Amino acid sequence: MNYIKDNLEKIKTSISEKIVLVAVSKTKPIADLLEAYEAGQRVFGENKIQEMVTKHEALPKDIEWHMIGHLQRNKVKYMAHFVDLIHGVDSLKTLKEINKQAHKHDRVINCLLQVRIAKEETKFGLTPADISDILYSEELKTFTNIKICGFMGMATFTKNENILNEEFSELETLYNHHKKQHPDFSILSMGMSGDYKLAIKNGSTMIRVGSSIFGARNYLT
Ligand SMILES: *Cc1c(COP(=O)(O)O)cnc(C)c1O
Repeated sequence: MNYIKDNLEKIKTSISEKIVLVAVSKTKPIADLLEAYEAGQRVFGENKIQEMVTKHEALPKDIEWHMIGHLQRNKVKYMAHFVDLIHGVDSLKTLKEINKQAHKHDRVINCLLQVRIAKEETKFGLTPADISDILYSEELKTFTNIKICGFMGMATFTKNENILNEEFSELETLYNHHKKQHPDFSILSMGMSGDYKLAIKNGSTMIRVGSSIFGARNYLT
């Protein structure tokens, strides 16, 4: 019954120590997260704020919690006191709300802008023009309780390596371009169970892996 530990070890030995592994535990029970924790995993990703809050309350306090899902602005307040990194920011309005809630707790919350790289209609994210609008807006300078640390992207759900390479390298190019003006950028979050190796080849610094650690998700239960 130690498959979670085995999976984690398998992934960790296949990537450089410099790559941050976010264990995506959405829909999984506390016992599974605890097994990963006991195997040494300290960074967990969730895509629903309420679920993350419940798990944060139940688990050891040295866990780093990442919100990787699409954000509902009215729920940011529930995680503002503990969230370590918000991956899916896709508007100035959302940044404003995160800043407001972070200010209440006298914290600085780390954020990534979600870039739309997949050609699929269903994926969220900003265009390169939107990114520039946000990064160079005057309003952003007034948000002193957030820090933009880099970008996040999700590739098309495909096994076609040409498409994946194209999408990941597009995001890497955009990241490197903006990093020139923002030398404190340090995170390029891309790569999931099916594509993290290609993502890393294209410059990913942080991968978000769920099913390869915890097994397939069953959304019906
Ligand atoms: C669910 C999810 C993942 C992990 O997906 P797997 O294919 O299970 O590794 C990564 N990133 C985001 C944004 C997700 O919602």
